[in-house]
Amino acid sequence: MNHQSSNNQHVRRKIVIEGVVQGVGFRPYVYQLAIRLQIAGWVRNDRTGVTIEVEGNEEDLDSFLEQLRQNTPPLAEISRITVSNLNFLGDRGFFIHHSQSDSPSRAQIAPDTFVCSECLHELFDQSDRRYRYPFINCTNCGPRFSIVTGVPYDRPLTTMADFPMCSRCLSEYHDPNSRRFHAQPNACPDCGPQLTLVDSQREPVIIKDPLKFVAETLRQGGIVAIKGLGGYHLAVDATNSAAVNELRRRKSRDEKPFALMARDQDSISAFAEVSEQEYQLLAGPERPIVLLHKKTGHRLAEEVAPDNRYFGVMLPYTPLHYLLFAEGFNAIVMTSANHTDEPIVYQDLEALERLSGIADFFLTHNRRIETRTDDSIARIMASHPVILRRSRGFVPRAVRLPCKLKPVLAVGGDLKNTICLTRSNDAFLSQHIGDLKNTEGYESFKRTINHLITLLDVCPERLACDLHPDYYSSHYALEECHLPAMPVQHHHAHLASCLAEHGRQHPAIGIVFDGLGYGADGHIWGGEFLIGDLKSYQRSGHFRYQPMPGGDLATRQPWRMALSYLQSVFGEIPEDCSALKGIPKNEWQLVAQANQRGINSPLTSSCGRLFDAVAAVLGLRQRVSFEGQAAMELEMIADPDQTQPYSYVLEFEKKLVQFDPASLLKVILEEERSGKPLSQIAGRFHLTLAAMMVEVCEYLRDESRINSVVLSGGVFQNSLLTQKAKNGLQKANFEVLTHSHIPPNDGGLALGQAVIAGQDGEYF
Ligand code: ZN
Ligand code: ZN
Ligand code: FE
Repeated sequence: MNHQSSNNQHVRRKIVIEGVVQGVGFRPYVYQLAIRLQIAGWVRNDRTGVTIEVEGNEEDLDSFLEQLRQNTPPLAEISRITVSNLNFLGDRGFFIHHSQSDSPSRAQIAPDTFVCSECLHELFDQSDRRYRYPFINCTNCGPRFSIVTGVPYDRPLTTMADFPMCSRCLSEYHDPNSRRFHAQPNACPDCGPQLTLVDSQREPVIIKDPLKFVAETLRQGGIVAIKGLGGYHLAVDATNSAAVNELRRRKSRDEKPFALMARDQDSISAFAEVSEQEYQLLAGPERPIVLLHKKTGHRLAEEVAPDNRYFGVMLPYTPLHYLLFAEGFNAIVMTSANHTDEPIVYQDLEALERLSGIADFFLTHNRRIETRTDDSIARIMASHPVILRRSRGFVPRAVRLPCKLKPVLAVGGDLKNTICLTRSNDAFLSQHIGDLKNTEGYESFKRTINHLITLLDVCPERLACDLHPDYYSSHYALEECHLPAMPVQHHHAHLASCLAEHGRQHPAIGIVFDGLGYGADGHIWGGEFLIGDLKSYQRSGHFRYQPMPGGDLATRQPWRMALSYLQSVFGEIPEDCSALKGIPKNEWQLVAQANQRGINSPLTSSCGRLFDAVAAVLGLRQRVSFEGQAAMELEMIADPDQTQPYSYVLEFEKKLVQFDPASLLKVILEEERSGKPLSQIAGRFHLTLAAMMVEVCEYLRDESRINSVVLSGGVFQNSLLTQKAKNGLQKANFEVLTHSHIPPNDGGLALGQAVIAGQDGEYF
């Protein structure tokens, strides 16, 4: 058959595109592409996404499809394209048809996105009608997820419904050749949201240029609450120690580092080390906070991130941020406006009430935030980006699963909570909700569940929760909902979340190290070697159980764990050890007695608690103000170039490997007493854990013939440990799977729960 003639044949095709394809400029893009290639037909939004019918010769249609795949609009994310052949009709011209709105849309909503370069250009162009307008946006940028109230994604179902468009905005909105064609948040100074300045007495301040006023306040050391995309920030000048200190004092006394916003790459380079890879992450469309090494001699206030090797830094992402930085700042503290452990404040009245003792002024506006979303946090670990808090910019992007699941709602854990909803073979992990122990957090949790169910138009058939009987999230699943619920073991969920992220269904060896998770035997697990897949697991190894004096109190007071280990090793406590420095003798003696009798001392195999104990033994820290603080500091002082692990003890019995941390702790105590540098001890400690992991995995590989190893759990936020473990395992020819898009900590738990509970769905 003549190839040429077949290519010139006129054909008609139907193209169905799924993914994030609505509200992101997809139809005008298709329209312009079709016009350019002189292809006839139409495009429209519908329930699944975007449907296109095109006619032309085969060659043109092929290149149309090719370009569709390759040059999608910036915010679009195609998850699937289905092409089928139709009978040729002989259409002329190309049209954008109206949406089919007889059924709610199943298309995905885009995440909130940083202001695009074209909008930025207009923002600073004196001749543009949106010159210095803080709410400028287009189909390629601006608020999305945080302003959506329902589906289909259309202006009346966003908080922009409060602002009827003026005639000029409306004509852009209807013009397929405009960058604002169907841009739902489209607005201008004549018709859109406006800034307001409010003082600490909640009185509006009438002033011509609130932004200039805010800049001046910051320069003079004032504290300003600024309403952003997903909530309020508290801002102070990052170079002003007194101001940063004052913010710390007013906010409460915790020692958590404050996030920074910096103008551009150059201004970041002045205070932090930033590699090309880190810059890519910073400047990506999600604009997360990225953890960067502090530069020695930086000129920022030390109080921004006390006792920390890192700064958490982000680039500006809203037009308002850019306008603020145009006033001449290099770096501004931009910390979430909240009280310790509570979710970020996002409603205006709530902000004025809750922040009135903290902020001197409020820079607010009248575009409502429907859904609070914190800034996301990421870092480069072992040369790969890892998301530690997945929120603004990433949510509600789907995680593509390796199998089709029943619709499941997974409610996550009680700390760093997120929830997860599945729809066919997509999983939707919610924004960071946080700690459920306070009322605000719990309310936010329930609200998020209802909102996500509405947006995704899916009715969960079952629930998944943690095995912990006392979790608020588990209580919600088991008591408040009337659906079958499956409690999932904590560390199995961690393992499954990493497998799901990598699209794996086959079993792997899971090294799951974290703070605390309820174990299948009723003890507290956290240093686990599991062999498992998305369905089931078996516990193949763990850290030897150790009493945790005072239970939860031990997570705030690392000296308690140190004491427990020292008691196991020595019987009597060596009085002069650094671990008990500053702890009154009668206090630790009481704890030691209680521990000996097993009073209020639950057993744990936690790796996080071992880090705490080592940090305490080295005298780094006896008490912490947030979970994982001691472990973080241990990582920070560690010399990464150590080559000699300490000796360690493994016991093999009945197909169960046990690692005995007590003997390692004894060695570390002796090293500390002999005056070895702490950096060396900390470095060798990390190396020892990595060596131990390799040995255990080699043993398990021999037993199981499984060669893939998953690293999951909060401990793997530790870059040094991850790096060393990965290197060691790869050297031993293991395939190593680590987290990247899903947090290794409990923020990823819900995804794992969902895939485990949804398992008797059909497989592809
Ligand atoms: Zn734009
Ligand atoms: Zn307008
Ligand atoms: Fe965990």
